[in-house]
Amino acid sequence: MAEARVVIVGGGFAGLNAAKHLGNKEGVHVTLIDRRNHHLFQPLLYQVALAALSPADIATPIRSVLSDYENVDVLLGNVRTVDFQHKKVTAGFGAVPYDYLILACGANHSYFGRDDWEEYAPGLKSLEEATEIRRRVLMAYEMAERTHDRELQKEYLTFVIVGGGPTGVEMAGAIGEMSRYTLGRDFRNLDPRNTRIILVEGASRILNAFDSELSMKAARGLEKLGVTIWTNSRVTDITPYGVKIGEETVRACTVLWAAGVRPAELSHRLGVPLDSAGRVSVEGDLSIPGHPDVFVLGDQAHFEHNTPDGNALPGLAPVAIQMGRHVARNILREVRGQSREPFQYRDKGIMATIGRADAIVQVGKIRFGGMFAWLTWLFVHIMYLVGFKNRMLVMIQWFWSYVTLSRGARLVTSRNWKSEKRFELAYRYINTFEAASKAAREKNAGKNGTKQTTRAKKTAKVMRKSAVRKKGLRKTAARAKAVRKKALRKKK
Ligand SMILES: Cc1cc2nc3c(=O)[nH]c(=O)nc-3n(C[C@H](O)[C@H](O)[C@H](O)COP(=O)(O)OP(=O)(O)OC[C@H]3O[C@@H](n4cnc5c(N)ncnc54)[C@H](O)[C@@H]3O)c2cc1C
Repeated sequence: MAEARVVIVGGGFAGLNAAKHLGNKEGVHVTLIDRRNHHLFQPLLYQVALAALSPADIATPIRSVLSDYENVDVLLGNVRTVDFQHKKVTAGFGAVPYDYLILACGANHSYFGRDDWEEYAPGLKSLEEATEIRRRVLMAYEMAERTHDRELQKEYLTFVIVGGGPTGVEMAGAIGEMSRYTLGRDFRNLDPRNTRIILVEGASRILNAFDSELSMKAARGLEKLGVTIWTNSRVTDITPYGVKIGEETVRACTVLWAAGVRPAELSHRLGVPLDSAGRVSVEGDLSIPGHPDVFVLGDQAHFEHNTPDGNALPGLAPVAIQMGRHVARNILREVRGQSREPFQYRDKGIMATIGRADAIVQVGKIRFGGMFAWLTWLFVHIMYLVGFKNRMLVMIQWFWSYVTLSRGARLVTSRNWKSEKRFELAYRYINTFEAASKAAREKNAGKNGTKQTTRAKKTAKVMRKSAVRKKGLRKTAARAKAVRKKALRKKK
């Protein structure tokens, strides 16, 4: 009998576990397609973003993870469409036919319809984003060290994190920890402890998925690290200069996004029922209604059968892992002529770190925080990391960081070599145009006379022209122009 062709799209927690479970099993041939060549351990991404770990510590080439499975092929490619009728998926390199299809494409950021905010407030989902956040955070300190303008320094040292879920909390805690314990000795012209970290949450408390006492405990832990928490607060705008929260404007050099996720784009191209968040609604065996040979797993799926609270399962690694293994088991059962079994999630609990040696853990009715919770968190994350080498490396690095209070991966790297220049230029424009508006205000008040205003206006004009010439800086220039216009209006 011919082998059943199983195509898996996505080598994240769900896809990789399905592939491993089908690996070296009789009756199936597996093709795993991922647009990246590596499996990423997302729960530790913030450690890369905040310079505690290096990218290679938390990512492993998918090819090497699956190299021992003779019946598994790995292909690098972005799957664009699925043809249910002809049973094939199409990626950039061509079409791949299937008998069974497993879609496990994960999730992306959601900016709630304001995708233009992404440029000023990157989210944390990939290694590229993590290193970009690391670059922005470290550059903010570098820029603050260079300036003698205290007001500007304050802006460089203000970090706003939007979203008080586990990712936002972990990022805020890590910046607090870094500013308090790690950077102190490295800078001469600034005191990193003056770092201002604002965590903005729309709900009435942070870490909504946790018990309220644990959430309060986490809030106290963050406050000790210098984090200010703004609850019941909604971000209404994000610009290169900071954020608008309700009617209040906070000037900040670095804004980070941890507020919303939406499932992979492929879901919208399937033509199947989606929930309000864009996840594919699946049956009890994780297949798509009307397509029993197509399964959707992990963050991409909306599964609400037999869940403890009747709600859809959350986007968590254990959910994705269990789904991947379950679908693989069902495919093997069917190939052997047995019937499928429904999926039943076994709740493994939730946890979040707050900072150095502090975390919260909630497993069923068991709740605890502090050092023991942090050790539990450490143990679980080490266990789930893919690859023995990664486990050892991460353990050694954590131990070293814990003892020496250091962060070994404080490297400013850039995907786009022009971006540092862009960053600097943007700030230079802001300063110049602010100088222009200040001069205009002063003139208005009869203090400094026409001379200063004219000079500031001239400088502003020259800089704006040069900005327009540089690709990608047009937006900044337009905003700068608006500032200048406003200043001139006031003058009149
Ligand atoms: C910063 C962060 C911290 C987190 N912390 C925790 C935590 O502490 N505990 C926890 O349980 N969960 C945590 N999560 C959630 C957890 O990581 C996800 O629930 C889990 O990764 C979902 O697994 P998945 O397989 O569905 O998707 P993913 O792991 O996201 O994998 C999806 C894969 O699909 C690939 N892909 C997507 N589209 C295509 C396409 N069109 N073609 C080809 N390939 C494609 C992607 O490249 C990726 O490799 C965190 C998530 C993030 C972002």
